[in-house]
Amino acid sequence: MHVAAVIAAGTAGEAEQQARACLRRGADLVEFRIDALRHPTAGDLRRLASALGPRAIATLRSPAQGGLHGLDRDARHALLLEACRLPFRFVDAELTTDAERLAEYAKVAKSRAKDLIVSHHFDAPASLEEVGEILDACLAQGRVGKVAVPAATVDEAVALVDLARRKSGARFALVGMGTAGMLTRALAADMGQEIQYATGNRVTAPGQLGLDAALRVRAKGAFVLGIVGHPLGHSLSPEIHEAALQAVRLPGVYLPFDLAEASLEPLLAAADRLQLRGLNVTIPYKEAIAGLMDELDGDAEALEAVNTVVLHEGWAKGHNTDTFGFRTSLRSLGLRLGERRVLVVGAGGAAKAVVHVLLREGAKVAVANRTPARAEALADAFDDTVEVLAPEETPRKGPWDLLVNATPAGTMGMEAVLPVPEAVLDRTGFVYDLVYNPPETPLLAAAKRRGVRGTNGLEMLLQQAAQSFELWTGKSAPYEAMRRAAREVAA
Ligand code: NAP
Repeated sequence: MHVAAVIAAGTAGEAEQQARACLRRGADLVEFRIDALRHPTAGDLRRLASALGPRAIATLRSPAQGGLHGLDRDARHALLLEACRLPFRFVDAELTTDAERLAEYAKVAKSRAKDLIVSHHFDAPASLEEVGEILDACLAQGRVGKVAVPAATVDEAVALVDLARRKSGARFALVGMGTAGMLTRALAADMGQEIQYATGNRVTAPGQLGLDAALRVRAKGAFVLGIVGHPLGHSLSPEIHEAALQAVRLPGVYLPFDLAEASLEPLLAAADRLQLRGLNVTIPYKEAIAGLMDELDGDAEALEAVNTVVLHEGWAKGHNTDTFGFRTSLRSLGLRLGERRVLVVGAGGAAKAVVHVLLREGAKVAVANRTPARAEALADAFDDTVEVLAPEETPRKGPWDLLVNATPAGTMGMEAVLPVPEAVLDRTGFVYDLVYNPPETPLLAAAKRRGVRGTNGLEMLLQQAAQSFELWTGKSAPYEAMRRAAREVAA
């Protein structure tokens, strides 16, 4: 498989410069998107061909198929014909736009010992049958057939992977567009794809892998990690784990699987076929996925919630690394909680993990939640005593050695509200806000104004991510690289 860095630049000079940079980083090829040039001329083509032609694909994507600048029919034909004559490694022409000229391009390309790619880009999801037929039509006209089609769901991407595997022997690229379709890019080598189109100077297609990730998975046998949840927009996990995979140079990628609950079981069932080695699990599936595991670790069993799945030869083991993350971060903060009084705000999955750890540390725990019934249910789930308070009575109780916010209140993009009355901070020794974005949450800012120390949830997030990484890969997690990536995104 060739890894081609896609270059979309406004001038030939800029395209050449960017292409050289990508080749130096390890790309096998570059794809020059000639349609990105502001006024493409035969002179531009000659310049690019003589500079880098043998390592380049010349592509003139039409606006109807996602191209940037349009040309009239004659100008398009003249440029494509010229590209076929010049020493490019591949030239890409379109099945429908160039239908009448394909035979001519193929003949010229063949006479110049280059391969014609015949491509088709669907602008809306299409049936698998239609995708298969169009790919066959592309293959009938070109040495390489390329089809790109939006994949609206992970299930559709899995179907494309299976379709590609049935094409073995053909020279093709079959790409699922969009976030869900990233699986077709991660598994490109195993699917037998001829070319992996990766981001060169800028993202030109939704779901495109970055060049580093594409290079890591260029060989067969690459593995897939990812996060399942819905919606996934807020998660920092993809950046953290991509940085870890890159730092340790492992042949894997980490993908976002934003899916409906009904798709969890089929995804797990397809794990071996999809080279899926591990998953993180986030809202709202931490409890639902626990019921689909073959085995649970102690914390996941106690909490009936899984945030990390390890997949190996048809066996799925669920772990809860949130507990590890919280426990380890308490230690690194030097907080010793035996017999200390702790107020936990919130009664969801994170609050439950926090209470579980605090009780094991010997703390005296109280829980306050907006919906009192949920706080009661959380307290009932533990054998040890957990006091239940209404949020408004928390300032009168205490004092609290530690206050933990386990609600999303204060998260960037939400109204800047505090999850408890501000006065509670007058009777609090230390604030631990599980929210990490923004780094200084409204609760932490209010604590600071009163001289109360505190921390956000980044350390917990990183510690749980590090443990997940180690469970999946058996390698020590490159903690500093993960921290840098998280800080960059959260900043
Ligand atoms: P969850 O299961 O949906 O529970 C959310 C809890 O927050 C519920 O008790 C809910 O109250 C309460 N809540 C929601 N919005 C609120 C508001 N505006 N004011 C007061 N209370 C509010 O979520 P979760 O999984 O427990 O996660 C909670 C937070 O912790 C999230 O922000 C998540 O990102 C964060 N978290 C961080 C880490 C980390 O590593 N740092 C790990 C896990 C979770 P009701 O019961 O009344 O709806």
